[in-house]
Amino acid sequence: MSQALNSPPTLSEQYRGYPERLASQAQESKNRLYSNKTAPESVPRKRGVRLPPDTTQDGFDRAISALQQQIGQQNVVLNDKPLIDGWYLDHPNTHDAFHVVDQEDLVSSAVAYPESTTEVQTIVKWANKYSIPLWPISMGRNLGYGGGAPRVPGSVVVDLGKRMNKILNIDPDNASCVVEPGVSYFELYEEIQRRKLPLWIDCPDLGGGSVLGNAIDRGVGYTPMGDHFANHCGMEIVLPNGELLRTGMGAMPGKYGADNPTWQSFQPAYGPYSDGMFSQSNFGIVCQMGVWLMRETGHQSYLFTFPRDEDFPEIVEAIRPLAQNRILGNIPQLRHVVQELNVTGLPKSHWYSGTGPIPRDVVRKHARNLPTGECSWVFYGTQYGDLAGIESQLEIIKTAFFKIKGTKFFLPSDLPPDHYLHSRAKVCAGIPVLRELDWLNWKPNAAHLFFSPITPTKGADAKVVHDINIRLHEKYGIDLFPTLCVAGREMHYITNIVYDRSSDDEKRRSAALMRELIAAAANEGYGEYRTHILFADQVARTYSWGDNALMRFNETIKDALDPNGILAPGRNGIWPKKYRGKGWELLGDETERAIGGGTIEPKKTMSRL
Ligand code: ADP
Repeated sequence: MSQALNSPPTLSEQYRGYPERLASQAQESKNRLYSNKTAPESVPRKRGVRLPPDTTQDGFDRAISALQQQIGQQNVVLNDKPLIDGWYLDHPNTHDAFHVVDQEDLVSSAVAYPESTTEVQTIVKWANKYSIPLWPISMGRNLGYGGGAPRVPGSVVVDLGKRMNKILNIDPDNASCVVEPGVSYFELYEEIQRRKLPLWIDCPDLGGGSVLGNAIDRGVGYTPMGDHFANHCGMEIVLPNGELLRTGMGAMPGKYGADNPTWQSFQPAYGPYSDGMFSQSNFGIVCQMGVWLMRETGHQSYLFTFPRDEDFPEIVEAIRPLAQNRILGNIPQLRHVVQELNVTGLPKSHWYSGTGPIPRDVVRKHARNLPTGECSWVFYGTQYGDLAGIESQLEIIKTAFFKIKGTKFFLPSDLPPDHYLHSRAKVCAGIPVLRELDWLNWKPNAAHLFFSPITPTKGADAKVVHDINIRLHEKYGIDLFPTLCVAGREMHYITNIVYDRSSDDEKRRSAALMRELIAAAANEGYGEYRTHILFADQVARTYSWGDNALMRFNETIKDALDPNGILAPGRNGIWPKKYRGKGWELLGDETERAIGGGTIEPKKTMSRL
């Protein structure tokens, strides 16, 4: 499809934009993706504004105009225009850009844009009064997990990022900052550069997301401070009844009304450590967060290739002691060689013209012509510190990995400038990039779901999950793209399930694959660390030990904090009392059945909520 493409926004133009240094890359990336697009940019909507459950048009109109009066007409916008999936840097906050079910299904009724914590409180009190569910997002760029879409159609999305996008403080001595939800990795990085501070941020594979949003969704990055939630320190939260809470040392008032001076220095403070309850939950809206930064240091990225598919458990066994001894500098990634093909940004059709998953021997044939040569697994690592330290660490790592026959080692200088390792080297030094977008060119209109189970860092466990993935991807005829983020005791085994948004058949197979993967992994005792909103109920139910003790605990807290059930119902499978047992949970094949025209509605007609 040939289209004249608008330039995506720059950071100076819009808080969701990209830095000038990435201008040509952003434009090229967008052009490449659109050149592969066959679906129209938007289609006429089948329905009007999707109302919140159990709300009449009249009641909704009155509620919306009341909110408009309180925070400004222009700051409460109805979701009544054509839905546009857009592209990573012009993503929508009206629906899930990577829709699995019908594009019009998981939609909001309206979007509210608060300017301050006080306005967030106003919105929450309004939602309680009118019994309208809210769905807070920071920036809505967690594509693959639901993006900006609410789990309950017709919720009012609270887009915090648009107007609450300030870096409130950077403390170079404490190596920390305080951010609002709309501060992206790009923005934080550029500001640190502008101030010439000797500090690093930690960013995920793509730099456009919210620093705060990613941390509370427990996302990961790749410097030694890659566990984002573990490196946050203190939050300001609006509770579902509109009250305000500061966690950590922030709970102690500072002198003369100032913020507590230790708020970004010590995480737990006194008493139960409450911060965790506000990550992957629907217990509060986080309006500010302290984030620790890293001191600038030397670094060296590198990669190893391993020749055989069967080397996989042995590689994991070799990584474990290196990680436990903290020889490995960060959370390295182990990727299957098929990922070397897709990070080139070339479409699948470039490599393979057949239907079905790309065969292993075709991958092998093409890998032979890539700079890293024929191999099966590729390990991307980075070491930190001074030169002597890095060299001695690399010697230990080489000794361990070279025990696996046929292993090869590469530095960035061994590889051409467009090799993915150069982009990894940036991410591993806390420089946010866009390169990871390239594998979305794999197929037309591509979107993805992540299947993300956790296993112990043990070859035998890793093999069980890997074998499940191989078997089920084959069953559903979908390419398997494994990327493993390996720490000393656990690994995030992440597969990207890439599907064509214009094909209901592909969507249905992808959803069915997800559902079966979750169930098969749980059968073996492996659970996901994060999932798309459509699979949240199923994943939550796999954590069922002790007659669902954990969910009953979460529900008790939910009902105490949110008796009217207004805040993000269904997030992470936690439903407030007024929705529970009324058919909202998606535990069977409802998602597959809803694809191509069905709706994610409660199964039974709701009586009175
Ligand atoms: P990103 O940071 O990648 O742009 P989002 O803003 O979409 O991601 O955040 C991911 C998810 O975390 C959202 O869908 C929402 O459920 C939740 N979330 C994000 N920001 C907040 C917040 N400030 N308070 C409460 N929940 C939030």
